[in-house]
Amino acid sequence: MKDGAPENTWVANRVALWSFASLAMAFAGAMTAPAVLTVGCSTPANRSHAPVFSFLQLNDTHVDADAGKDGYEKANEKARWLIEAAASGQYFARPDFVVGVGDLIHGERIENLGPDLRLFRELLKPLRVPFYPVVGNHEVIQQEGSPKHEQAYREVFGDNRVNYTFTHGGVLFIALNNGGACCVGPAVVKARNDWLRHELERAPGVPKIILCHIPLIPLREEPVLAKSFGFRSYMDRDGGTLKIVEAHTDSVIAVLSGHLHLTGVVQHKGIFHISIAGTASYPCDYALYTVFADRIEVSVRQLPARLVTPKTNIHGKPRYRQDFVDENHKTPWQYVAGRANERAFIISMKNKLATNDTRKNP
Ligand SMILES: [Zn+2]
Repeated sequence: MKDGAPENTWVANRVALWSFASLAMAFAGAMTAPAVLTVGCSTPANRSHAPVFSFLQLNDTHVDADAGKDGYEKANEKARWLIEAAASGQYFARPDFVVGVGDLIHGERIENLGPDLRLFRELLKPLRVPFYPVVGNHEVIQQEGSPKHEQAYREVFGDNRVNYTFTHGGVLFIALNNGGACCVGPAVVKARNDWLRHELERAPGVPKIILCHIPLIPLREEPVLAKSFGFRSYMDRDGGTLKIVEAHTDSVIAVLSGHLHLTGVVQHKGIFHISIAGTASYPCDYALYTVFADRIEVSVRQLPARLVTPKTNIHGKPRYRQDFVDENHKTPWQYVAGRANERAFIISMKNKLATNDTRKNP
């Protein structure tokens, strides 16, 4: 987790490189905050204007067939709105596909997994673009690798949607199940890491985005985050997964996750770690990614006001008596929703992305 200094240099021999304009925003210690404007070769004058593709990230929707019992306020209604918005193109341009980065359902008990997942599938029906799910801890009640706990997920989404890859516009997306991050044995972690290493190694030079529910690094000052989140799983506790990813800093663009119910972005060793709050709890966010040949524009948005539910904030009142702040997030809003430059930023890529699929879907 420690680099010793904020990152502010171009790194040679990479497929995709990034730099930031406001390095003064550097995190204390190792981490660098993103800025709205990029520097280097990607200036407004020479940027490419036509998007190659776009996608929507939804996560932590916590859809609940027993709505109203113990789940999140308006969770089903929020998920329905977002899926219908993606289908209609009324609120934002219709994306080419949607990634569902875990905790799509509330679950909690094994007998709930099937009904919750089937309800989620029902909600997906209006969507006319591909949907790529990722296993979160709520899909399997933290039991990563357990056939019994994965059964309902596999029945709804397919056996080929647990650990899998797909390509779009020359980018390889790697959907990794790390839903048991803090609570599974070494054999499960080894299987996860072996699969990930293999997928990374067999596509050298191909730009990659990793989708995993639980972030690989802390998205806030770690002691504060541990307290405000209240669970040990505020990050993937197996440092091995991060090491494997960071052996491929030449081609890994970003790691997209959720789980924390807060929105934040940290650059570490040139890789963007992006965690989106999701819709179930405040601030009720989703994210839009527009991929150009030379950059990715990221826009985090809140649901419409009628679906924003302040009482569902898990990082402050009313869950706690107090709200939280940290060194880089000076207000409770910034702490839970991120600074403005964590909600709208650009990942600048020095080399152009391939516009052809370079690898067949599995
Ligand atoms: Zn989660």
